[in-house]
Amino acid sequence: SVIRCDVLVIGAGAAGLMCALTAGQRGRLVQVIDHANKVGKKILMSGGGRCNFTNTGTTAANFLSANPHFCKSALARYTPYDFIGMVERHGIAYHEKELGQLFCDVSSKQIVRMLLDECQAAGVQIRTDCAVSTVERGADGFHVHAAQGHFHAASLVVATGGLSIPSMGASGLGYELARQFGHEVLPTRAGLVPLTLSGRHQERFQDLSGVALPVTARCNEVEFRNSMLITHRGISGPAILQISSYWQPGDDLRLDLLPGQDAEAWLRAMKRDRGAAELRTVLSEVLPRRLALRLCEHWLPDRPVRQIDEPQLRQAAALLGSFPLVASGTEGYRTAEVTLGGVDTRKVSSSTFESQLVPGLHFVGEVLDVTGWLGGYNFQWAWACGHAAGQVV
Ligand code: FAD
Repeated sequence: SVIRCDVLVIGAGAAGLMCALTAGQRGRLVQVIDHANKVGKKILMSGGGRCNFTNTGTTAANFLSANPHFCKSALARYTPYDFIGMVERHGIAYHEKELGQLFCDVSSKQIVRMLLDECQAAGVQIRTDCAVSTVERGADGFHVHAAQGHFHAASLVVATGGLSIPSMGASGLGYELARQFGHEVLPTRAGLVPLTLSGRHQERFQDLSGVALPVTARCNEVEFRNSMLITHRGISGPAILQISSYWQPGDDLRLDLLPGQDAEAWLRAMKRDRGAAELRTVLSEVLPRRLALRLCEHWLPDRPVRQIDEPQLRQAAALLGSFPLVASGTEGYRTAEVTLGGVDTRKVSSSTFESQLVPGLHFVGEVLDVTGWLGGYNFQWAWACGHAAGQVV
């Protein structure tokens, strides 16, 4: 038997559920199908279980895309405050952690519960454990063969997300469907992901695992000032996750280990005021001690500051202010928060998210070539484009 609906959404994640509830509120008959055994798994695991559900400072500048203007329209029409309004209507307590990042006080489960309650109130039907086998388009709409039957819908919304964390249900179906219908898919790679080190840097840093410090990470003319964490495999922490989206193998990656300070001026002040002290001693006052010692062992002059001559001082300052870290790669999709690249937006409407090649076909969320920074931007993107598509499907 055929399950008929107006709108079939593939993927019960952030973007798919938002699209479904918005379309349902307009009176559309909506079915959502997902191959996973429960909905919104990434929402559940996000933000350390508290879901960083939006960022109040969201602008187009917080996203990477080959088409940087594409995200503007949807972000302007569904703002963080629209989503906060829904969160407040559902009585979910939240707080700002830093830099406009909003988190649930209690649990990310509340966000999933809210979306499901909204879907239910709007008459949306959701089916989990429903893998898709084929998608075809006929004169009368889309025919989708899936584990729970044959679906027929006038509009099809692809909301299958990116490739990160395959164990949470990520798959390449969205990209395959895009290609099937003539869309280009821009090369994908892991973003917001820890970097691995190799060779000398790996050897010299790995036993510092657990050391954290504030840095400014710079790559390809982009910089992020935040904390960094040394791990047994490499480096992580917000500053590194952010810069990882801008880094590719071979790119020059620099760390300012004294962010917000002029390393040369600091060294000169130490030479003037603390000349008898060892560099490792004064450095341990501004850096984690284990890291300061390691730097003095391998890279910096290990002697009383007054004995550091002018060329050495300048060299040391350059190293502290712009440490060249040789990353060998990323930890990949296994631990990445997002997938860079994806469905080329140049053949998708930025206001309706409808394909310009296939009427009735829509792409929303991370499957598109739009990737946000760390800090709630990726969910805001999912809500905004889910909402925009939900108003027209
Ligand atoms: P998803 O939410 O990934 O949903 C896609 C859905 O499609 C899934 O339910 C999946 O099961 C389903 N699906 C996939 N393939 C198929 C298929 N073949 N057939 C049927 N269904 C399929 N972003 C933030 O803004 N704030 C955070 O705090 C945050 N924390 C994160 C923490 C982690 C560990 C990870 C991995 C990501 C985090 N993100 C965060 C990113 C955010 O989760 C995603 O950007 C967002 O979920 C994308 O929404 P989406 O709806 O496009 O895709």
